[in-house]
Amino acid sequence: MESEVVNSLLVRKYNQPVPRYTSYPTVPFWNEPLDNERWKSGFSAKFSEQNHINGISLYIHLPFCESLCTYCGCNKKITTNHKVEDEYLAGIEKEWTLYRKLMKQTPVIREIHLGGGTPTFFSPRNLQRLLNFILKGSIVHPQHEFSIEGHPNNTTVEHLKMLHATGFRRISYGVQDNDPQVQRIINRIQPFENVKNATGNARTVGFKSVNFDLIYGLPLQTLESIERTINKVIELKPDRIAFYSYAHVPWASKAQRLFDESHLPSAEEKIFLYLKGKELLMKNGYVDIGMDHFALPTDDLYKAWNEGKLHRNFMGYTTQNAGMLLGLGVSSISDTGNAFAQNEKALHDYYTAIHAGKLAIRKGYFLSEEDLAFRKYILDIACKGETGFNEEHLYILEQYTFPMLTDLAKDGLIEWSRAGLKLTDQGHYFIRNICSAFDLHLHRKHPVQQIFSKAI
Ligand code: SF4
Repeated sequence: MESEVVNSLLVRKYNQPVPRYTSYPTVPFWNEPLDNERWKSGFSAKFSEQNHINGISLYIHLPFCESLCTYCGCNKKITTNHKVEDEYLAGIEKEWTLYRKLMKQTPVIREIHLGGGTPTFFSPRNLQRLLNFILKGSIVHPQHEFSIEGHPNNTTVEHLKMLHATGFRRISYGVQDNDPQVQRIINRIQPFENVKNATGNARTVGFKSVNFDLIYGLPLQTLESIERTINKVIELKPDRIAFYSYAHVPWASKAQRLFDESHLPSAEEKIFLYLKGKELLMKNGYVDIGMDHFALPTDDLYKAWNEGKLHRNFMGYTTQNAGMLLGLGVSSISDTGNAFAQNEKALHDYYTAIHAGKLAIRKGYFLSEEDLAFRKYILDIACKGETGFNEEHLYILEQYTFPMLTDLAKDGLIEWSRAGLKLTDQGHYFIRNICSAFDLHLHRKHPVQQIFSKAI
Protein backbone atom coordinates (compact mmCIF):
# COMPACT_ATOMS: atom_id res chain seq x y z
CA MET A 1 0.00 0.00 0.00
CA GLU A 2 2.84 2.35 0.97
CA SER A 3 4.53 1.96 -2.41
CA GLU A 4 1.23 2.68 -4.22
CA VAL A 5 0.92 5.97 -2.27
CA VAL A 6 4.51 6.97 -3.06
CA ASN A 7 3.96 5.92 -6.64
CA SER A 8 0.87 8.14 -6.98
CA LEU A 9 2.73 11.15 -5.59
CA LEU A 10 5.53 10.65 -8.06
CA VAL A 11 3.08 10.13 -10.88
CA ARG A 12 1.60 13.53 -10.01
CA LYS A 13 5.02 15.16 -9.87
CA TYR A 14 6.13 13.78 -13.23
CA ASN A 15 2.75 14.12 -14.92
CA GLN A 16 3.95 16.41 -17.72
CA PRO A 17 3.63 16.38 -21.49
CA VAL A 18 6.87 14.53 -22.28
CA PRO A 19 7.62 13.15 -25.79
CA ARG A 20 7.39 9.41 -26.46
CA TYR A 21 10.82 9.58 -28.14
CA THR A 22 10.01 7.59 -31.25
CA SER A 23 12.57 10.01 -32.67
CA TYR A 24 15.34 12.21 -31.33
CA PRO A 25 15.35 15.11 -31.94
CA THR A 26 11.55 15.10 -31.73
CA VAL A 27 9.46 16.39 -34.65
CA PRO A 28 8.86 19.95 -33.29
CA PHE A 29 12.61 20.58 -33.62
CA TRP A 30 12.82 19.61 -37.30
CA ASN A 31 13.43 22.09 -40.11
CA GLU A 32 10.93 23.10 -42.69
CA PRO A 33 11.58 22.90 -45.59
CA LEU A 34 14.25 20.20 -45.88
CA ASP A 35 17.11 20.33 -48.39
CA ASN A 36 15.72 17.67 -50.77
CA GLU A 37 18.94 17.07 -52.71
CA ARG A 38 20.87 16.51 -49.50
CA TRP A 39 18.14 14.11 -48.28
CA LYS A 40 18.24 12.14 -51.55
CA SER A 41 22.02 11.73 -51.62
CA GLY A 42 22.06 10.85 -47.92
CA PHE A 43 19.29 8.30 -48.48
CA SER A 44 21.20 6.63 -51.35
CA ALA A 45 24.42 6.47 -49.36
CA LYS A 46 22.76 5.04 -46.22
CA PHE A 47 20.75 2.56 -48.28
CA SER A 48 23.91 1.22 -49.97
CA GLU A 49 25.54 0.86 -46.56
CA GLN A 50 22.62 -0.76 -44.70
CA ASN A 51 20.62 -2.76 -47.24
CA HIS A 52 22.88 -5.81 -47.48
CA ILE A 53 23.61 -5.85 -43.73
CA ASN A 54 20.22 -5.42 -42.05
CA GLY A 55 17.71 -4.80 -44.83
CA ILE A 56 15.23 -1.92 -44.67
CA SER A 57 11.92 -1.26 -42.90
CA LEU A 58 8.90 0.14 -44.68
CA TYR A 59 6.06 2.03 -43.07
CA ILE A 60 3.10 2.61 -45.38
CA HIS A 61 0.43 5.05 -44.24
CA LEU A 62 -3.11 4.25 -45.42
CA PRO A 63 -5.14 7.25 -44.26
CA PHE A 64 -8.81 6.50 -44.99
CA CYS A 65 -11.48 5.70 -42.37
CA GLU A 66 -15.23 5.28 -42.82
CA SER A 67 -16.20 7.16 -39.68
CA LEU A 68 -14.58 9.64 -37.35
CA CYS A 69 -13.57 8.61 -33.82
CA THR A 70 -13.75 11.84 -31.84
CA TYR A 71 -10.59 11.19 -29.79
CA CYS A 72 -8.44 10.64 -32.88
CA GLY A 73 -5.23 12.59 -33.39
CA CYS A 74 -3.96 10.56 -36.40
CA ASN A 75 -3.53 11.79 -39.94
CA LYS A 76 -6.73 10.44 -41.54
CA LYS A 77 -9.33 11.22 -44.18
CA ILE A 78 -12.93 10.26 -43.49
CA THR A 79 -14.87 8.89 -46.47
CA THR A 80 -17.18 6.05 -47.41
CA ASN A 81 -16.17 6.35 -51.06
CA HIS A 82 -13.88 3.43 -51.76
CA LYS A 83 -12.96 4.76 -55.19
CA VAL A 84 -10.22 6.71 -53.37
CA GLU A 85 -8.27 3.47 -52.93
CA ASP A 86 -7.04 3.31 -56.54
CA GLU A 87 -5.83 6.90 -56.68
CA TYR A 88 -4.00 6.55 -53.39
CA LEU A 89 -2.30 3.28 -54.31
CA ALA A 90 -1.17 4.81 -57.59
CA GLY A 91 0.45 7.60 -55.52
CA ILE A 92 2.28 5.14 -53.25
CA GLU A 93 3.46 3.14 -56.25
CA LYS A 94 4.89 6.29 -57.83
CA GLU A 95 6.58 7.26 -54.58
CA TRP A 96 8.14 3.80 -54.22
CA THR A 97 9.33 4.03 -57.84
CA LEU A 98 10.97 7.41 -57.07
CA TYR A 99 12.77 5.89 -54.10
CA ARG A 100 13.74 2.77 -56.09
CA LYS A 101 15.69 5.09 -58.43
CA LEU A 102 17.76 6.16 -55.42
CA MET A 103 18.54 2.53 -54.53
CA LYS A 104 21.57 1.13 -56.31
CA GLN A 105 20.83 -2.47 -55.24
CA THR A 106 17.74 -4.67 -54.95
CA PRO A 107 16.06 -3.71 -51.67
CA VAL A 108 16.00 -6.31 -48.89
CA ILE A 109 12.71 -5.87 -47.04
CA ARG A 110 13.01 -6.71 -43.37
CA GLU A 111 9.91 -5.03 -41.98
CA ILE A 112 6.64 -3.78 -43.41
CA HIS A 113 4.08 -2.05 -41.25
CA LEU A 114 0.74 -0.97 -42.72
CA GLY A 115 -0.62 1.81 -40.51
CA GLY A 116 -3.32 4.40 -40.68
CA GLY A 117 -6.03 5.62 -40.75
CA THR A 118 -7.58 2.22 -41.26
CA PRO A 119 -5.48 -0.06 -43.48
CA THR A 120 -8.38 -2.55 -43.59
CA PHE A 121 -10.50 0.18 -45.23
CA PHE A 122 -8.72 -1.06 -48.38
CA SER A 123 -10.07 -4.23 -50.00
CA PRO A 124 -7.94 -7.39 -49.73
CA ARG A 125 -7.47 -7.20 -53.51
CA ASN A 126 -6.09 -3.66 -53.31
CA LEU A 127 -3.80 -4.42 -50.38
CA GLN A 128 -2.51 -7.39 -52.35
CA ARG A 129 -1.89 -5.10 -55.35
CA LEU A 130 0.12 -2.72 -53.15
CA LEU A 131 2.20 -5.48 -51.56
CA ASN A 132 2.85 -7.18 -54.90
CA PHE A 133 4.08 -3.89 -56.31
CA ILE A 134 6.49 -3.36 -53.42
CA LEU A 135 7.72 -6.93 -53.14
CA LYS A 136 8.12 -7.52 -56.88
CA GLY A 137 11.78 -6.87 -57.52
CA SER A 138 12.64 -6.86 -53.79
CA ILE A 139 14.19 -9.54 -51.63
CA VAL A 140 12.27 -10.54 -48.51
CA HIS A 141 14.68 -10.86 -45.56
CA PRO A 142 14.61 -14.37 -44.01
CA GLN A 143 13.80 -12.83 -40.59
CA HIS A 144 11.19 -10.43 -41.91
CA GLU A 145 8.39 -9.08 -39.73
CA PHE A 146 5.27 -7.82 -41.49
CA SER A 147 2.46 -6.26 -39.47
CA ILE A 148 -0.79 -4.36 -39.94
CA GLU A 149 -3.19 -2.22 -37.93
CA GLY A 150 -6.68 -3.72 -38.31
CA HIS A 151 -10.08 -2.34 -37.36
CA PRO A 152 -12.09 -5.03 -35.53
CA ASN A 153 -15.23 -3.88 -37.40
CA ASN A 154 -13.91 -4.38 -40.93
CA THR A 155 -10.99 -6.84 -40.85
CA THR A 156 -12.29 -9.82 -42.83
CA VAL A 157 -11.06 -13.39 -43.08
CA GLU A 158 -10.15 -12.55 -46.70
CA HIS A 159 -7.91 -9.71 -45.49
CA LEU A 160 -6.23 -12.00 -42.98
CA LYS A 161 -5.72 -14.89 -45.40
CA MET A 162 -4.21 -12.64 -48.06
CA LEU A 163 -1.90 -10.94 -45.55
CA HIS A 164 -0.82 -14.24 -44.02
CA ALA A 165 -0.03 -15.65 -47.46
CA THR A 166 2.14 -12.55 -48.07
CA GLY A 167 4.15 -13.08 -44.87
CA PHE A 168 2.22 -11.05 -42.26
CA ARG A 169 2.25 -12.62 -38.78
CA ARG A 170 1.38 -9.65 -36.54
CA ILE A 171 -1.78 -7.64 -36.28
CA SER A 172 -2.72 -4.79 -34.00
CA TYR A 173 -6.39 -4.07 -33.34
CA GLY A 174 -7.65 -0.70 -32.14
CA VAL A 175 -9.89 -1.75 -29.26
CA GLN A 176 -9.62 1.45 -27.15
CA ASP A 177 -12.51 0.82 -24.71
CA ASN A 178 -15.25 -1.77 -24.36
CA ASP A 179 -17.80 0.33 -22.45
CA PRO A 180 -20.91 1.14 -24.58
CA GLN A 181 -21.25 4.66 -23.12
CA VAL A 182 -17.59 5.47 -23.78
CA GLN A 183 -17.87 3.98 -27.27
CA ARG A 184 -20.86 6.20 -27.99
CA ILE A 185 -19.18 9.42 -26.91
CA ILE A 186 -16.00 8.65 -28.85
CA ASN A 187 -18.13 7.58 -31.84
CA ARG A 188 -16.51 4.18 -32.08
CA ILE A 189 -19.24 1.59 -31.75
CA GLN A 190 -17.46 -1.71 -31.63
CA PRO A 191 -19.28 -4.68 -30.09
CA PHE A 192 -17.06 -7.07 -28.14
CA GLU A 193 -18.17 -9.85 -30.53
CA ASN A 194 -16.35 -8.02 -33.35
CA VAL A 195 -13.11 -7.87 -31.35
CA LYS A 196 -13.50 -11.52 -30.39
CA ASN A 197 -14.15 -12.64 -33.98
CA ALA A 198 -11.33 -10.52 -35.43
CA THR A 199 -8.90 -11.95 -32.84
CA GLY A 200 -10.09 -15.54 -33.30
CA ASN A 201 -9.92 -15.23 -37.09
CA ALA A 202 -6.36 -13.87 -36.98
CA ARG A 203 -5.25 -16.79 -34.82
CA THR A 204 -7.07 -19.38 -36.93
CA VAL A 205 -5.46 -18.01 -40.08
CA GLY A 206 -2.01 -18.26 -38.46
CA PHE A 207 -1.10 -14.81 -37.08
CA LYS A 208 1.26 -15.41 -34.19
CA SER A 209 0.96 -12.10 -32.35
CA VAL A 210 -2.15 -10.03 -31.72
CA ASN A 211 -1.84 -6.60 -30.11
CA PHE A 212 -4.71 -4.53 -28.69
CA ASP A 213 -4.49 -0.76 -28.38
CA LEU A 214 -6.34 0.53 -25.33
CA ILE A 215 -6.67 4.15 -24.21
CA TYR A 216 -7.07 5.65 -20.74
CA GLY A 217 -8.29 9.18 -20.09
CA LEU A 218 -11.22 9.03 -22.56
CA PRO A 219 -14.47 10.87 -21.79
CA LEU A 220 -16.84 9.04 -19.40
CA GLN A 221 -14.19 6.50 -18.37
CA THR A 222 -14.26 5.58 -14.69
CA LEU A 223 -12.24 3.22 -12.54
CA GLU A 224 -15.10 0.72 -12.78
CA SER A 225 -15.41 1.01 -16.57
CA ILE A 226 -11.67 0.64 -17.17
CA GLU A 227 -11.66 -2.40 -14.89
CA ARG A 228 -14.54 -3.93 -16.86
CA THR A 229 -12.81 -3.18 -20.19
CA ILE A 230 -9.52 -4.73 -19.16
CA ASN A 231 -11.09 -7.77 -17.56
CA LYS A 232 -13.13 -8.32 -20.71
CA VAL A 233 -10.38 -7.86 -23.31
CA ILE A 234 -7.84 -10.03 -21.50
CA GLU A 235 -10.29 -12.93 -21.81
CA LEU A 236 -9.00 -12.96 -25.40
CA LYS A 237 -5.37 -13.08 -24.22
CA PRO A 238 -3.86 -10.59 -26.69
CA ASP A 239 -0.10 -11.18 -26.84
CA ARG A 240 0.62 -7.48 -26.45
CA ILE A 241 -1.30 -4.51 -25.13
CA ALA A 242 -0.43 -0.88 -25.77
CA PHE A 243 -2.17 1.15 -23.04
CA TYR A 244 -1.95 4.71 -24.29
CA SER A 245 -2.75 7.98 -22.59
CA TYR A 246 -5.42 10.03 -24.36
CA ALA A 247 -3.88 13.34 -25.43
CA HIS A 248 -6.50 16.09 -25.42
CA VAL A 249 -5.35 18.67 -27.98
CA PRO A 250 -8.58 20.21 -29.36
CA TRP A 251 -6.63 23.15 -30.84
CA ALA A 252 -4.79 20.67 -33.10
CA SER A 253 -7.49 18.02 -33.55
CA LYS A 254 -10.92 19.38 -34.48
CA ALA A 255 -12.65 16.03 -33.85
CA GLN A 256 -11.84 16.39 -30.15
CA ARG A 257 -14.13 19.44 -30.03
CA LEU A 258 -17.11 17.17 -30.74
CA PHE A 259 -17.60 16.05 -27.15
CA ASP A 260 -18.15 18.00 -23.98
CA GLU A 261 -14.85 18.45 -22.12
CA SER A 262 -16.67 18.14 -18.79
CA HIS A 263 -16.88 14.39 -19.49
CA LEU A 264 -13.10 14.03 -19.44
CA PRO A 265 -11.51 12.57 -16.31
CA SER A 266 -9.37 15.08 -14.38
CA ALA A 267 -5.57 14.78 -14.55
CA GLU A 268 -5.71 13.15 -11.12
CA GLU A 269 -8.44 10.66 -12.12
CA LYS A 270 -6.51 9.83 -15.27
CA ILE A 271 -3.50 8.77 -13.23
CA PHE A 272 -5.64 6.37 -11.25
CA LEU A 273 -7.16 4.96 -14.44
CA TYR A 274 -3.65 4.14 -15.59
CA LEU A 275 -2.61 2.63 -12.28
CA LYS A 276 -5.76 0.49 -12.18
CA GLY A 277 -5.18 -0.73 -15.73
CA LYS A 278 -1.53 -1.48 -15.12
CA GLU A 279 -2.30 -3.35 -11.90
CA LEU A 280 -4.87 -5.56 -13.68
CA LEU A 281 -2.57 -6.27 -16.60
CA MET A 282 0.33 -7.22 -14.36
CA LYS A 283 -1.91 -9.40 -12.18
CA ASN A 284 -2.87 -11.26 -15.32
CA GLY A 285 0.65 -12.05 -16.43
CA TYR A 286 1.52 -9.07 -18.63
CA VAL A 287 4.96 -7.52 -18.24
CA ASP A 288 5.53 -3.76 -18.44
CA ILE A 289 8.01 -3.37 -21.32
CA GLY A 290 8.04 0.40 -20.99
CA MET A 291 6.42 3.48 -22.54
CA ASP A 292 2.83 2.16 -22.36
CA HIS A 293 3.60 -1.34 -23.70
CA PHE A 294 2.76 -4.63 -22.00
CA ALA A 295 3.45 -8.13 -23.31
CA LEU A 296 2.94 -11.74 -22.29
CA PRO A 297 6.23 -13.58 -21.62
CA THR A 298 5.48 -15.83 -24.61
CA ASP A 299 5.57 -12.89 -27.03
CA ASP A 300 8.67 -11.95 -29.05
CA LEU A 301 8.51 -8.37 -27.79
CA TYR A 302 8.94 -9.60 -24.22
CA LYS A 303 11.75 -11.95 -25.28
CA ALA A 304 13.58 -9.13 -27.10
CA TRP A 305 13.15 -6.87 -24.04
CA ASN A 306 14.35 -9.61 -21.71
CA GLU A 307 17.44 -10.24 -23.86
CA GLY A 308 18.23 -6.52 -24.22
CA LYS A 309 17.49 -6.67 -27.98
CA LEU A 310 14.53 -4.31 -28.17
CA HIS A 311 14.58 -1.44 -30.69
CA ARG A 312 12.49 1.67 -31.08
CA ASN A 313 11.48 3.70 -34.10
CA PHE A 314 8.42 5.58 -35.39
CA MET A 315 6.38 2.38 -35.24
CA GLY A 316 7.12 2.13 -31.48
CA TYR A 317 8.97 -0.83 -30.03
CA THR A 318 10.18 -3.46 -32.46
CA THR A 319 12.13 -6.70 -32.28
CA GLN A 320 13.86 -5.96 -35.59
CA ASN A 321 16.81 -3.70 -36.19
CA ALA A 322 16.77 -2.71 -39.83
CA GLY A 323 19.28 0.05 -40.38
CA MET A 324 16.79 2.43 -41.96
CA LEU A 325 13.08 3.10 -42.19
CA LEU A 326 11.37 4.38 -45.32
CA GLY A 327 7.92 5.89 -44.83
CA LEU A 328 5.58 5.95 -47.81
CA GLY A 329 2.28 7.79 -48.11
CA VAL A 330 0.82 10.98 -46.77
CA SER A 331 2.43 12.23 -43.51
CA SER A 332 4.81 9.23 -43.29
CA ILE A 333 8.20 9.63 -41.66
CA SER A 334 11.50 8.15 -42.87
CA ASP A 335 14.65 7.64 -40.79
CA THR A 336 17.98 6.85 -42.45
CA GLY A 337 19.83 6.66 -39.15
CA ASN A 338 21.34 10.12 -39.48
CA ALA A 339 18.42 12.06 -41.02
CA PHE A 340 14.62 12.24 -40.79
CA ALA A 341 12.06 13.32 -43.38
CA GLN A 342 8.30 13.68 -43.10
CA ASN A 343 5.93 13.67 -46.07
CA GLU A 344 3.25 16.26 -46.77
CA LYS A 345 0.30 15.94 -44.40
CA ALA A 346 -2.46 16.97 -46.79
CA LEU A 347 -3.47 14.50 -49.50
CA HIS A 348 -3.65 17.23 -52.12
CA ASP A 349 -0.04 18.35 -51.46
CA TYR A 350 1.16 14.76 -51.40
CA TYR A 351 -0.43 13.99 -54.79
CA THR A 352 0.82 17.25 -56.34
CA ALA A 353 4.44 16.49 -55.44
CA ILE A 354 4.34 12.80 -56.40
CA HIS A 355 2.63 13.40 -59.75
CA ALA A 356 5.22 16.06 -60.55
CA GLY A 357 7.86 13.34 -60.09
CA LYS A 358 9.15 14.78 -56.78
CA LEU A 359 9.43 13.26 -53.33
CA ALA A 360 6.59 14.64 -51.17
CA ILE A 361 8.81 15.77 -48.29
CA ARG A 362 7.57 18.59 -46.09
CA LYS A 363 10.10 18.77 -43.28
CA GLY A 364 12.98 16.87 -41.75
CA TYR A 365 16.25 17.00 -39.90
CA PHE A 366 19.92 16.06 -40.38
CA LEU A 367 21.40 14.79 -37.11
CA SER A 368 24.68 16.21 -35.76
CA GLU A 369 27.29 14.07 -33.98
CA GLU A 370 25.89 15.34 -30.69
CA ASP A 371 22.32 14.37 -31.70
CA LEU A 372 23.48 10.85 -32.61
CA ALA A 373 25.21 10.41 -29.25
CA PHE A 374 22.25 11.68 -27.21
CA ARG A 375 19.80 9.70 -29.30
CA LYS A 376 21.74 6.58 -28.33
CA TYR A 377 21.43 7.47 -24.63
CA ILE A 378 17.67 7.90 -25.04
CA LEU A 379 17.22 4.66 -27.01
CA ASP A 380 19.35 2.70 -24.52
CA ILE A 381 17.14 3.89 -21.67
CA ALA A 382 13.88 3.27 -23.57
CA CYS A 383 14.87 -0.22 -24.73
CA LYS A 384 17.28 -1.56 -22.09
CA GLY A 385 16.62 0.55 -19.01
CA GLU A 386 20.27 1.57 -18.72
CA THR A 387 23.03 3.46 -20.50
CA GLY A 388 26.73 4.21 -20.13
CA PHE A 389 28.18 7.72 -20.54
CA ASN A 390 30.96 8.59 -22.93
CA GLU A 391 33.66 10.72 -21.26
CA GLU A 392 33.66 13.08 -24.24
CA HIS A 393 30.11 14.17 -23.34
CA LEU A 394 30.65 14.72 -19.63
CA TYR A 395 30.86 18.49 -19.98
CA ILE A 396 27.43 18.63 -21.70
CA LEU A 397 25.93 16.05 -19.36
CA GLU A 398 27.13 18.06 -16.36
CA GLN A 399 25.49 21.17 -17.72
CA TYR A 400 22.08 19.81 -18.72
CA THR A 401 21.51 16.21 -17.66
CA PHE A 402 23.19 15.58 -14.30
CA PRO A 403 21.09 18.14 -12.36
CA MET A 404 17.98 16.26 -13.47
CA LEU A 405 19.53 12.87 -12.69
CA THR A 406 20.19 14.08 -9.14
CA ASP A 407 16.49 14.84 -8.77
CA LEU A 408 15.41 11.54 -10.35
CA ALA A 409 17.76 9.60 -8.07
CA LYS A 410 16.36 11.39 -4.99
CA ASP A 411 12.92 10.12 -6.01
CA GLY A 412 14.30 6.58 -6.28
CA LEU A 413 13.77 6.33 -10.05
CA ILE A 414 17.40 5.74 -11.11
CA GLU A 415 20.79 4.75 -9.76
CA TRP A 416 23.57 6.66 -11.45
CA SER A 417 27.22 7.71 -11.43
CA ARG A 418 29.45 9.56 -13.87
CA ALA A 419 29.82 6.22 -15.69
CA GLY A 420 26.13 5.71 -16.49
CA LEU A 421 22.63 5.08 -15.15
CA LYS A 422 20.21 2.25 -14.52
CA LEU A 423 16.47 2.48 -13.93
CA THR A 424 15.06 1.19 -10.66
CA ASP A 425 11.81 -0.84 -10.70
CA GLN A 426 9.86 2.31 -9.87
CA GLY A 427 11.79 4.26 -12.53
CA HIS A 428 10.42 2.00 -15.24
CA TYR A 429 7.11 3.82 -15.10
CA PHE A 430 8.84 7.17 -15.67
CA ILE A 431 10.99 6.21 -18.67
CA ARG A 432 9.83 9.18 -20.73
CA ASN A 433 10.77 11.65 -18.00
CA ILE A 434 14.15 9.98 -17.58
CA CYS A 435 14.75 10.09 -21.36
CA SER A 436 13.89 13.79 -21.34
CA ALA A 437 16.96 14.42 -19.15
CA PHE A 438 19.00 13.73 -22.32
CA ASP A 439 16.88 15.88 -24.64
CA LEU A 440 19.30 18.72 -25.29
CA HIS A 441 16.93 20.45 -27.71
CA LEU A 442 14.30 20.65 -24.98
CA HIS A 443 16.85 21.86 -22.41
CA ARG A 444 18.19 24.57 -24.67
CA LYS A 445 14.67 25.81 -25.32
CA HIS A 446 13.57 25.65 -21.68
CA PRO A 447 15.86 26.14 -18.70
CA VAL A 448 16.48 22.88 -16.80
CA GLN A 449 14.42 23.95 -13.76
CA GLN A 450 11.30 24.43 -15.89
CA ILE A 451 11.28 20.87 -17.22
CA PHE A 452 10.66 19.28 -13.82
CA SER A 453 8.95 22.31 -12.34
CA LYS A 454 5.52 20.85 -11.57
CA ALA A 455 6.25 19.78 -8.04
CA ILE A 456 3.85 17.54 -6.12
S1 SF4 B 1 -8.97 6.32 -34.44
FE1 SF4 B 1 -8.36 5.10 -36.19
S2 SF4 B 1 -10.32 4.49 -37.11
FE2 SF4 B 1 -10.79 6.20 -35.75
S3 SF4 B 1 -10.68 8.02 -37.05
FE3 SF4 B 1 -8.67 7.77 -36.12
S4 SF4 B 1 -7.48 6.62 -37.58
FE4 SF4 B 1 -9.64 6.39 -38.13
